[in-house]
Amino acid sequence: MSIPYNLLRVRIDTNAICSNYRKLHQAGGQAIAVVKSDAYGHGLKKVANALAQAGCTRMAVGTVDEAAYLRDCGFDGQIMALLGTHNAEEDLECLRRGIIPCITHVEQLQRLALTLQSQSAHKPFPLCLKFDTGMRRLGFAAAETPMVTGILRNAPGLRAVMVASHLATADTPEEEAFVHQQGREFTTICALLAETLPPFERCLANSAAILAFPDLHLDAQRPGIAMYGGNPFHATDWEELGAGLLPTMEVQAPVLQVRDLAPGDSVSYGRTFRATEPMRIAIVAAGYADAYSRGLSSATGNGPAMLLHGCRAPIVGRVCMQMTAVDVTHIPQTRSGDTAFLLGGTGTEAIRVEELAAWWGTISYEVYCMLGMNRR
Ligand SMILES: *Cc1c(COP(=O)(O)O)cnc(C)c1O
Repeated sequence: MSIPYNLLRVRIDTNAICSNYRKLHQAGGQAIAVVKSDAYGHGLKKVANALAQAGCTRMAVGTVDEAAYLRDCGFDGQIMALLGTHNAEEDLECLRRGIIPCITHVEQLQRLALTLQSQSAHKPFPLCLKFDTGMRRLGFAAAETPMVTGILRNAPGLRAVMVASHLATADTPEEEAFVHQQGREFTTICALLAETLPPFERCLANSAAILAFPDLHLDAQRPGIAMYGGNPFHATDWEELGAGLLPTMEVQAPVLQVRDLAPGDSVSYGRTFRATEPMRIAIVAAGYADAYSRGLSSATGNGPAMLLHGCRAPIVGRVCMQMTAVDVTHIPQTRSGDTAFLLGGTGTEAIRVEELAAWWGTISYEVYCMLGMNRR
């Protein structure tokens, strides 16, 4: 999970994560902290421990293996496996370790019933039923509701403690109507299920819906990105709704060398950047092998930047495998050994994750997952 030999340093602010978590838990009423994919690159063990300390008793991961690891970390609260189980072995692992799998299709539910039968288990097997209301990814179709309740009626050991669905456009103001459509479909499905099933929790909202759609908070919510300080509404009309979340990840690398350029000099492979006047550049020890994307290369020096001495230092030329050049003409105190921030840093010019993501042509989620791999 980590690259031990590079010069990048990733710092995780678990206090900030906990503070964001509390804010979202308060807003929605019942937050299930989403810590899948190594807590969005922040480190599952460390994040889970901090959240548990902060009073979080419910977490969600993707795979059953992640869930088992979270148990191994000592978390004794509720764990959901969003990607569900895929064979009897995983079913039993969930049963044994108190992991709640999201069950998303009929064969899976039938297999689970069989697995449980073969065990003649005495305790009920809690599961989450996931319905598709518009993502067209995982989940039962609304029309399958009678089949689902039929299977559950004949498998008294299976206990649907939660019913969930996932929103496709909660972070996109122009697609608000689709959010409400999914919300209506979900509450209809839940009402139908409630006619035959014992009581269950309804869980629909992700970060964006917690912040923007109070009517969709229902019984429990699943905050992810906002817990890690990402504003789901960055660069939209609703940006204000996600303001005030604290940044949680900082990535730095040292300056290897500082050098002066004469007019006409070019920088890095392909000579894509050419100096038109005297300038000074710093060579920073971070490149695409460290998941600092080559897409951040700049032929103009007007786009992507790092932070040095509290000032923006724009990238010049192509990002290399382990090095990147930045313009420090306006930061003359820069020396080799200085710290350059790829993400974060202090002061008003600190680099926000959404900003880096926009330069990168992606979203905050991917920036975290990629740069997070440099954690040690
Ligand atoms: C990742 C994930 C979330 C969290 O979404 P954010 O947009 O990060 O808040 C919630 N639910 C499911 C099913 C997910 O996969």
